[in-house]
Amino acid sequence: MSIFINETTYYSEADIDAIADTPLEFLRQLNGLCIIDIQGHDVNRTRVVTTLIHGNEPSGFIAVHQWLRKKTKPATNMRIIICNIEAAQLPPEFSHRYLQAGQDLNRYFSMGKSNVAIVERAQQIKQAVLAVKPEAVVDLHNTSGLSPAFGVAIDDSEQALDLISLFTNKVILTGLRVGAIMEQNFSAPTVTIECGGAGQLQSHQLAYAGLTKFANEVSIFDRHANQVDIHRHPCRVELLPNVSVAFGHNHLPTADITLRADAEQLNNQLTPEGEFIGWYEGKEKLPLTAKNEQGVEQFDTMFSIQNGYIFTKQSLQIFMATTDPEIATNDCLFYATLEKN
Ligand SMILES: [Zn+2]
Repeated sequence: MSIFINETTYYSEADIDAIADTPLEFLRQLNGLCIIDIQGHDVNRTRVVTTLIHGNEPSGFIAVHQWLRKKTKPATNMRIIICNIEAAQLPPEFSHRYLQAGQDLNRYFSMGKSNVAIVERAQQIKQAVLAVKPEAVVDLHNTSGLSPAFGVAIDDSEQALDLISLFTNKVILTGLRVGAIMEQNFSAPTVTIECGGAGQLQSHQLAYAGLTKFANEVSIFDRHANQVDIHRHPCRVELLPNVSVAFGHNHLPTADITLRADAEQLNNQLTPEGEFIGWYEGKEKLPLTAKNEQGVEQFDTMFSIQNGYIFTKQSLQIFMATTDPEIATNDCLFYATLEKN
């Protein structure tokens, strides 16, 4: 059985020369929780980057590797935390989201002390962030499906929006609480950046460009964040328990619900009212749930079903739609914000 190695390894600028040429070789050099501290011009401030909480989301790690090898002295101290090396190292590398099936590290950050390994790892990461009293925290991820980049924050403070705007202008403000690192109180603006699809080259480029600005700019909080495009109050669209989903070009008899094979395309732009998204031929009510931040069911305001076809009932911004049945089943199908028509 794969386990978390309960050991933290610290690296500093003195170790950079030993870093392998490629991100894959770099990953193979690391063990357990890895913390990389790079001294900045201003040693009184520290910025934190966390990445690889999900082992199959490599953009942040690739960007960190590239940035470290440039050996640029950052504007402030940088603490880089590589969170889930163990999952990323499971062969084939960068293909496993979790170390153990269904155990999503980014759902364990709000738990109290425990000797369960995954909770301990989340606590170690939290402590490593708090220990440096950061001025900003950025957590780098990828989406499972094809997607443009976007940032996620729990509040619309100027500073949070400024941080996101280093990477992208698209912002989701969420009141949903799932136990993610972004929800923790680090007494500093804390945001998640979804750099785009894990397999998209442009996601790695975006992560590197944003990380470079985050590390190298003297002031990151003067960016006129009002330029950003904000989507508020996402609902989490999930299957009800024991309901199966498939993705196809027509209704598949092998699953309860079939969604469009190109469902990931819905991440790209607003989905208008009346858009077809899938098939359901059951006699019961559609076995999906779409709860808002207050836990109130929004399903009937978002979707309708006519003659076995599922349509949107309002204009929606869908994000994190994936056609990976495992993630669609164990996490959620997608998130959606209601948009004015
Ligand atoms: Zn992720």
